[in-house]
Amino acid sequence: MIDRTKSHYEVIVIGAGVAGIYQTKLLADLGVDATVLDAAADLGGTWYWNRYPGARFDSESYTYGFSFSKELLNEWHWKERFSSQPENLRYLNYVVDKFDLRKYMQFNCKVEAAHFDEANELWRLRINDGRELTSRFVIMAVGLLSVPTPPRLKGMETFKGRSFHTFYWPHEPVDMAGKKVAVIGTGATGIQVIAEIADKVGDLTVFQRRPNWSAPLNNGPISDAEMADIRSRYDNIFAQCARTPGGFEHEPDRRGFYEVSPEERRALWDRLYDTPGFAIWLRNFREIFTDEKANAEFSEYIADRIRRRVHAPAVAEKLIPRDHGFGVQRVPMETRYFEVYNRDNVRLVDISETPIVEVTETGLRTTERDYDFDIIVYATGFDAITGAFDHIDIQGVGAAKLRDKWSEGPSTFLGMLVHGFPNLLMPAGPQSGSASTNYPRGIETGVNWCTKLLEYMWDRGYSRAEPTLEAEERWTAHVKKMYSSMLMRKAKSWFTGYNSNVAGHEHGKVRYLVYNGGAPKYVSKINEVAENGYEGIVFSSGSTLAHRRGLEAVSIGEKTPD
Ligand code: NAP
Repeated sequence: MIDRTKSHYEVIVIGAGVAGIYQTKLLADLGVDATVLDAAADLGGTWYWNRYPGARFDSESYTYGFSFSKELLNEWHWKERFSSQPENLRYLNYVVDKFDLRKYMQFNCKVEAAHFDEANELWRLRINDGRELTSRFVIMAVGLLSVPTPPRLKGMETFKGRSFHTFYWPHEPVDMAGKKVAVIGTGATGIQVIAEIADKVGDLTVFQRRPNWSAPLNNGPISDAEMADIRSRYDNIFAQCARTPGGFEHEPDRRGFYEVSPEERRALWDRLYDTPGFAIWLRNFREIFTDEKANAEFSEYIADRIRRRVHAPAVAEKLIPRDHGFGVQRVPMETRYFEVYNRDNVRLVDISETPIVEVTETGLRTTERDYDFDIIVYATGFDAITGAFDHIDIQGVGAAKLRDKWSEGPSTFLGMLVHGFPNLLMPAGPQSGSASTNYPRGIETGVNWCTKLLEYMWDRGYSRAEPTLEAEERWTAHVKKMYSSMLMRKAKSWFTGYNSNVAGHEHGKVRYLVYNGGAPKYVSKINEVAENGYEGIVFSSGSTLAHRRGLEAVSIGEKTPD
């Protein structure tokens, strides 16, 4: 049982999701005095919260699992190629129990503030239960998509039926049989939930502002024999993931787009359309990401696929994006999504033509008419990547606020450290390799690197690490440069910091949130920094005494650290 009277730790990890779990495992192995705080009632992060019907991986399950333990890899049987939320949460619980990590975790602990105490070189954290905890290091494992953003619609509180953001989907089953249901939003989440519930509700009305390009997930079961084969190949599978830009097994086609005939291109796309997972996106020609003409030709191919699947031509045309090409936003993968619109109980409302004006007591009002609903589902996305940081009052040297420093977009060193915020580590932070890669593969990279940095400091008696401003500026400039060749920089999506529901993020001014150079390049850059004695980071060790004294000062009536 966790001792809630203990007030100081060497390391506090914020977040008990995929990153926090792995980070805890490494700290436990090193015997570090650490705790993990999470606002949720239990572990799992994304997979704890997002319980909406249809929530599942679109990474191959066996490339999503942790790679650090052979025993774990040999024990766990992924039942589906793209495993669903309940199974994913079971998996994370299994990992935590297997390695006895729960004893480090404190739930229902929302960190409201984290202030750096310069004199004593420690972080002071204020928790929602009234406690103040201190630690020398804080590790932000807060997730990339953990702050949901419902729309800012007039009258939302007046609705008499049930309504929820998909992130907060109720834990108990929601009875939708015979109900009139609205879904607002057609991103990866909306597409999953719509496809899953269409045949289970009375009527479904989808409110679409902009359609998304989407292609079949091609999910299927994994048999015992297949799982045995996967287990025998795990080393190769992870080695392959490490070689590819996205951290998946999928590798771009080596041929140049213009080196092959249109017929050969089409033959490739026909194959990829039926291949599981992100193959259609990541095994494609590289030019899809960088060349407008190549992208337009491929987008037209996918548009034709949509036309073939949706019976009503006018509806099909509405489901085809016009403002961006395929793959320049994160591609949602679907299972019979387009066929949903052939059903009699499903209606598509184009709110780019007839915007929602307000939520009424009985449903939604658009500029055209009123709709009555029993349930309204907001699948309206997240304050991505920096949102979870902005929601904590993080103050560094000179009481400078991180949210002010990042008001125009983040600036970091390697996506893992910030000038002015010593001893604050972000294994999957903004501008790191995690956001643009198969998430756990990126997380393992980040957590390993941060842990090695801590070991380096402990070995040498350093008590403080902070990147120089110059190193941070260099990294941020590099991150920006990586965007310059990508068509994605033009898209209004969470990858570029667009969100119409967050003040200041509505206008699509690009925020450089992710590292686009690909996983191999990212890993080689961060390893180079480590090999060069953590060039760009200033260490100091002068304050151990002050640190101790400070602890005594804050520990009146509290337990002092051992
Ligand atoms: P999203 O991609 O940001 O999509 C949000 C949707 O809601 C968009 O269609 C957006 O329309 C619409 N919307 C937002 N605010 C609105 C408003 N005020 N009025 C009307 N429509 C509004 O969010 P998401 O679908 O939750 O997906 C976010 C990310 O989560 C994904 O890209 C993915 O990385 C991750 N995810 C992963 C999985 C998986 O691994 N299988 C599943 C789900 C999500 P506009 O496009 O016009 O803004």
